[in-house]
Order: sequence, then structure tokens, then C-alpha cells
Amino acid sequence: MTTTKEEIMQSAKDLDVEFIHLQFTDLNGVMKNLSVTYEQLEKALDGEIMFDGSSIDGFVRIEESDMYLKPDLNTFVVFPWKPQVGREARLICDIYNPDGTPFSGCPRNILKKQIKDAKEMGYTMFVGPECEFFLFEVDEDNNPTLKTHDNAGYFDLAPVDLGESARRDMVTTLKEMGFEIEASHHEVAPGQHEIDFKYCDALEAADDIMTFKMVVRIIAQRHGLHATFMPKPVYGIAGSGMHLNQSLFKDGENAFYDPNGKDELSETAYRYIAGLIDHAKGLAALTNPTVNSYKRLVPGYEAPVYIAWSPKNRSPLIRIPAKRGASTRVEMRNPDPSANPYLALAVSLGAGLDGVKRGLQAPDPVYSNVYEMTEEEKIECCIDSLPGTLKEAIDALQQDQLLLDILGSHARVKYIENKLAEWDNYRTRVTPWELDMYLNTI
Ligand code: GLN
Ligand code: MG
Ligand code: MG
Ligand code: MG
Repeated sequence: MTTTKEEIMQSAKDLDVEFIHLQFTDLNGVMKNLSVTYEQLEKALDGEIMFDGSSIDGFVRIEESDMYLKPDLNTFVVFPWKPQVGREARLICDIYNPDGTPFSGCPRNILKKQIKDAKEMGYTMFVGPECEFFLFEVDEDNNPTLKTHDNAGYFDLAPVDLGESARRDMVTTLKEMGFEIEASHHEVAPGQHEIDFKYCDALEAADDIMTFKMVVRIIAQRHGLHATFMPKPVYGIAGSGMHLNQSLFKDGENAFYDPNGKDELSETAYRYIAGLIDHAKGLAALTNPTVNSYKRLVPGYEAPVYIAWSPKNRSPLIRIPAKRGASTRVEMRNPDPSANPYLALAVSLGAGLDGVKRGLQAPDPVYSNVYEMTEEEKIECCIDSLPGTLKEAIDALQQDQLLLDILGSHARVKYIENKLAEWDNYRTRVTPWELDMYLNTI
């Protein structure tokens, strides 16, 4: 159902909304916002609010800096955590050029373009994200620490502690904002949590991930905690993933399901898997976009290291959860919550569809634990590894024409430039590990 401008005006008036946040996401996946007062709402809804694009990292050069924010009317939400007087609402926006065309460096536009391409093939992508995060204590100056408040583990029914009650509050708030929460539980590591929401179409899923992260941070803060989506905040314990469960629908039916197919999967499902596998290394530059992402992709913590798939086993990159029928899906397990969800979904969908278009053959699934295979066995089964560093991932992206085309000429250049700078900044630091290792011994 689409919301009209008049409905938004009315509901903003009825609910006493004073400020409207016009939100968008930059290439790095950081949410930005420009707030306008109620008096400006009509102008904002008409897409007439302008901002200086040159001030946003990776957007435009100074001489072409006037950009327009065009809100998606379906994203109007009044924040439930504000007091009744002077409430705040948000609208998620697309970025437009002054000449009225969509700005090609806007991640949301990039995803929309990919969704349109899928539509032309008759497909709609649905996504169910599983977002993990840590809740840490803060010190007396309110700076985050690495101390956790609990010692609970996976699915533990610990006495209700600070983290548990914060998570409950997050779930309630998300529900008030229209989320359908499927599950919420403690994860493996102390202080680690997961909240899963119901699958929806790709654009809504990306918007939801951005909103989700904002809500989790705000509610954590209200409980005196710091929420982080950093993929591997602590060495030696589990990191945080953001598994992306993906499916394609055609004519209202799940196109991955075939009751007569092998493992009840359709030809389309096998080709989609093959596409994800074929582009896996380049995809990682978008699904695992930080230096820290690669500290998570190591053996021993249920995060994938190898490019393989399995109908059951949890160790490979892609798993097929047991549910069939309308719930048939491909679970991509390497993405982490530092990813820009618009870009991560755009390239995943593009890679999967590439497999469908080219009729790629999925390699044989692996039934055994890849971590227990010898090097020879892995070579025999053609099992390659995911990139080991951000640099390797960026190198792979630069070799992957399909993914570069999906990003488009503007975003690809800016993104790669940003990421290489990030890598170089990291690479040239002298770390505490090196000092421990070498200072006394060399
Ligand atoms: N935390 C794990 C990861 O990094 C996933 C654990 C799980 O959900 N089974 O992907
Ligand atoms: Mg899960
Ligand atoms: Mg999990
Ligand atoms: Mg999962």
C-alpha cells in the first residue's frame, strides 16, 4: 500500500510532529540526515529540499554540489521514543541531481536499479537479515569499553540483566515502528545479541537494516550501554555477522522451490547459488567492507572462510535452511553488519541473477565440515577461500566487471578510492601486536 502526501501531512499534524528527519545513506553505509521543521514538510514531500552534496563523503565535487532529497513516502514513521510534545518523524530519501535525474552515486538508487533489472526478468527479491551486535558497558565518561554485563551464551535464559532488558526494549520499539520481529536471542559470545525481522522485499529490507541499527544504538544508550555492529570487536570470541537470507519470487511463487528438484530446489536456485559463488570474492568488498570484517572470517567461530555451499552444514559461505515451499531460501553467511545494506543487496542480487542469466552450474555441495578437510581435499573439491583482507577483496572487486557495472561509474570510483585509503591507513600503522611480538626480540 502506498502512502500519499496528504496522509503524511495529516498524520504529522494529528501526531504533533515538529521535526522531520530526511534520511539517506552514504557510500560507507553511514546514515545521514537533514532535519526540517513541520512548516517545511510539504516542500520536503515534494522533493524540493536541497543539500550540499560536497559535504558528504564520496558524493560529489564542489562545483556540482546541489543535490535534492526525494523522500520515499512509504517510509514515513513517527519515532516512538520522543515525548508527545514536539515529536519527530523520518522519511528515507533518494538523492536526485539538480536536473531531476536520480543521482547514480546514491546507494538506494543503485539498489533500486538492480531491483528494476530483476523485475524485467520477472523476479522480486526477498530478504531476511539476521543482524548480530554487541552491547558493551560504557565508562564514567560515557566512552564505550569492551566490558560486557553478562556471561550468558547462545539462547541462554539468563536472569534478566541489563542487556536482556535493553534487547526487549529494542524489540518493542521496533514493533511500534512497524517491524515484524521473528526472533530475538542472546548469541554465542558474552554481550552478543541477535534480532531477526521478517523477510520483505530487498528495498524495504535495506531500509529496515538502517533503521534497525539506529534503533538498537539509541535504545542501548538509553540503557547506559553501547551497541556496536563492528564485525569482530574482541579477538578470540565470536564476531557479529549479518546473514542475508535471499529468495526470488516469480508470479507470486517462490522461484527457488521445486518439489521435484534435487533437495526440492529449483534450477533457478542452483543457478543463483552458482552466481553468488562465481562472484564471491568481489562481493566480499561490499558485504565485508571494513578492515575489521576479515578478522571475523576465520575458522572456529561459525563465520565462513571457504567459498562453498551446503544444504545443511553451517561452515560454508552458503547454506540452504531446511524450510521449503514459500520459505525456500539461500542463506549467505559472510555479510556482516558493517556493510552498506543497499550496496550489499544490490551486488548480491546482481551476482545471483548473473548465475540465472548465464545458466551457471552450482558446484557440488559440501556435506562435510570444510574446516576439517585437508588442503588436497579442498583442491580436489575446487573449494577456494574468501578474501583474507580488505585489500584482497578490493582487488577482486576491481577484476569483477559485473559488480563494477552494478555500482556504476561514480560509486565504483569513490568506493574503491575510500576503501584503498582505509586499507592503507591500517596497513601503515604500527600495532600493539607488533610491539608485543618484536620490540623485545629483534
Ligand atoms: N556469529 C556468527 C557469525 O559471525 C554466526 C552465529 C550464528 O548465527 N549461528 O556469522
Ligand atoms: Mg540466526
Ligand atoms: Mg546468529
Ligand atoms: Mg543464520
